[in-house]
Amino acid sequence: SSATHRPDVLVIGGGIGGLSAALALTRKGLRVRLYEKAAEFGEVGAGLQIAPNCTRILDDYGLLRETVALGVLPEHMVMKDAVDAEELTRLNLKDLQRRYGFPYMVIHRSDLLGIFLRACERAGVELVTDAHCVSYGNTPGGARVTFAGGRTDEAETVIAADGLHSVARTLLVHDEPVNSAYVAYRGAVPFDQVRTNDVHEKDVVVYIGPRCHFVQYPLRGGRMFNQVAVFESPKALAGEEHWGTPDELDRAFDGMCPQIRKGLPLMWRDRWWRMFDRDPIMNWVSGRIALLGDAAHPPLQYMAQGAVMAIEDGWVLAEHVGAQQARRSGQSSGVDWDKALGAYEAVRPEHCRRVVLAARAWGELWHLEGLKRLQRNTLLRSRDTYDYSFTDWVYGPTALTPDQEPELYPTIPLDSVND
Ligand code: FAD
Repeated sequence: SSATHRPDVLVIGGGIGGLSAALALTRKGLRVRLYEKAAEFGEVGAGLQIAPNCTRILDDYGLLRETVALGVLPEHMVMKDAVDAEELTRLNLKDLQRRYGFPYMVIHRSDLLGIFLRACERAGVELVTDAHCVSYGNTPGGARVTFAGGRTDEAETVIAADGLHSVARTLLVHDEPVNSAYVAYRGAVPFDQVRTNDVHEKDVVVYIGPRCHFVQYPLRGGRMFNQVAVFESPKALAGEEHWGTPDELDRAFDGMCPQIRKGLPLMWRDRWWRMFDRDPIMNWVSGRIALLGDAAHPPLQYMAQGAVMAIEDGWVLAEHVGAQQARRSGQSSGVDWDKALGAYEAVRPEHCRRVVLAARAWGELWHLEGLKRLQRNTLLRSRDTYDYSFTDWVYGPTALTPDQEPELYPTIPLDSVND
């Protein structure tokens, strides 16, 4: 049906960022065609944390009920020391939900991707797979993409949601992903396999330790259990090419508490994720080509905001498109794209810059060792667990304009533990 019309917008990349942006723009009455390079839409079969600043948007899209039905609403987020398993601090997620109006949830990645995919299909997004975009360029009236094999397509605007190794990003900056030398192992297993491992059935638990951390939470109504093991790779530090290998996994958690050591054999050992982010950039728009999601701001995952930021990007963009929309006439969508993209670029880069840098700082704080670790633990144990000054700037409503963005956020006084 929509194939008879020229699309108004092309979205490149069918991850959580691209699919959610395509949905958001379609809800504003635009014709959207999305291209994904893989043969099928898919995500890793592991877990994803989605904070209130994301569930608020899912609710706006009418998708929160389905998300809650497929996911888990944990009761607490508990931070423990990885060496002695002592509790350091926690967030009461029921109280957090009262504060922000929307829940903190965990969900299987492929379930969330499926929710967006089905919503895109219902909304009439044109979904094209097996389409590897190799270049982007502006045209007099819009932007054009070229695919491997030579096929091209064009529209008024192109949204590049093509992930960490974004091709579109090279239009704006010639940077490289920054190697953190940390690697993540994942594993999601039936809950029965961890029943005797002293796990929290209803919480998100993060064990923080010397150059490592370990995350656990339930998935799919508690029938599954998700674990993430993250550590610094000595081989990466030594400059070796094959780093983050399973022998390093076991060694990294030597001497950690039994709760972690019991979990390690359940990690998938045939795949691991080397952790890169990029330095923040403040310019995401080149003519009618705009970056979104990891293409614009890939973080280290310690704030659990990477996918959430991508979803926020699409929501903010669509709100500004809606605000800059005149009546459709002929082939033209009626959107003032320069204004809409300008408004998007005026607010999102600063927020995402803060998250990317805060995630790096979190990593430093989590991975301290020796005396600094003990000092950190003292600080964390003494914090008021109902103090939300650390989460308001992230979990509060997504800002549409710079003046809605909280000005400053507090930082843990790292200086006192860093010298
Ligand atoms: P991607 O998911 O990378 O999607 C990009 C898509 O574009 C892919 O489908 C790809 O195939 C396609 N593509 C790429 N290039 C092209 C091309 N040239 N042509 C056509 N298609 C192309 N985030 C959270 O919010 N909460 C969490 O709890 C969380 N935990 C994490 C844990 C780990 C261990 C890791 C590694 C990350 C975590 N994240 C988390 C981050 C989150 O996974 C990412 O930020 C998010 O998935 C980015 O989505 P995206 O759509 O922007 O990019």
